[in-house]
Amino acid sequence: MNVIETISAYREWWFRHRQQTIGLVPTMGYLHQGHISLIEQARRENRQVVLSIFVNPLQFGPSEDFERYPRDMERDLALAERAGVDIVFAPSVHEMYPNPMKTTVEVKDITSRLCGASRPGHFAGVTTVVSKLFHIIQPDKAYFGQKDAQQAAVIEKMIADLNFPVQLVRCPIIREEDGLAMSSRNVYLSPEERREAAVLYESIRAVEGAFKQGEDDAARLLEIGERILHTAKLARIDYAEILSYPDLEPVTALKRGQWIYAVAVFFGNTRLIDNAILQR
Ligand code: AMP
Repeated sequence: MNVIETISAYREWWFRHRQQTIGLVPTMGYLHQGHISLIEQARRENRQVVLSIFVNPLQFGPSEDFERYPRDMERDLALAERAGVDIVFAPSVHEMYPNPMKTTVEVKDITSRLCGASRPGHFAGVTTVVSKLFHIIQPDKAYFGQKDAQQAAVIEKMIADLNFPVQLVRCPIIREEDGLAMSSRNVYLSPEERREAAVLYESIRAVEGAFKQGEDDAARLLEIGERILHTAKLARIDYAEILSYPDLEPVTALKRGQWIYAVAVFFGNTRLIDNAILQR
């Protein structure tokens, strides 16, 4: 495994390997089993696996956790090597943004809902950095987790609209034993918050269960999900919504199609997200 920190060094590597299939797994590091599952799928499907580790300042709001986002490069490198990564691309902020950016890539409409409504500018930061990574790394396939379902939808739209020669591969949500979706941010939770955080998945399961039993009224499904979220005393609900997926349009009846039940919940300053895709 090689660690590459500059764009020019990556280009040199790429020039020697460009005939081979390249799978990219973009991350912000502090790796957990969710990230590893993406790497493992990339490993199965590509000759070369590139893991990018970059905490992207552009996608954090001014009052968000960019500075204190958990980082542990040494541990990440050991986990990456064990998972079969060929190249870790870990640029500095200066390497990615040597000059103030005058160009951004933005996807409209679907970025104004859910996390886009709570975190203005977040998705523009994501699509801009992912565009840069696609141009630098030149992958055939890029692996994204369904945990960030809106992000996957936004990047898929960007790929289609801008003709990136990249195939997006969606990977399932990896969970802790009690159902909490794995996230680098889970380390922020106090023991009591961590116990209560299982409520996100309980809410998801309840909505999925009612949907499977035939409930098709969006308001009633939402009520079932919200009632469970409200049982967590320390939780502050940012949003709980049912929308069409991947277009994220409002919906009243779930008759035929695909939808998302998506939740974002604060425990203190820690914001957790989770979702389920509902299909009929
Ligand atoms: P992050 O480092 O949080 O930006 O995540 C990097 C990638 O890993 C994104 O595509 C996430 O959707 C994915 N990911 C994060 N957590 C999980 C999880 N629990 N299960 C599956 N994929 C995940």
